[in-house]
Amino acid sequence: MMAESLWREIAGEPRPLATRCTECTRTAFPPASRCRFCGSRNVNQVELAAHAIVEAVSLMGTVLVVHARTTDGVVLLGQAEPAGLVRVGHAVRFRPTGHHMRFELDE
Ligand SMILES: [Zn+2]
Repeated sequence: MMAESLWREIAGEPRPLATRCTECTRTAFPPASRCRFCGSRNVNQVELAAHAIVEAVSLMGTVLVVHARTTDGVVLLGQAEPAGLVRVGHAVRFRPTGHHMRFELDE
């Protein structure tokens, strides 16, 4: 169960989990036992920043999905709250609910 978790709370703040490859140094989300880019098994779990900038907004069915780049440079997809107000360029913070990736406007 823990191994499948996409985030972890650190000092009261939920942080997305990713893996960083020691061979090619790239960071991948979601975390995996092999590097998605070069196939190496030399990966370490890292926590990403909780703060991100919205780079794109798309509609999947009736759900608004934001593509948010964390300050670590990794793009995450998630739902946005409040859905109608999130725009490209907005600062958001990671606020997951259970297994749902979710972002709120950062104030
Ligand atoms: Zn790699």
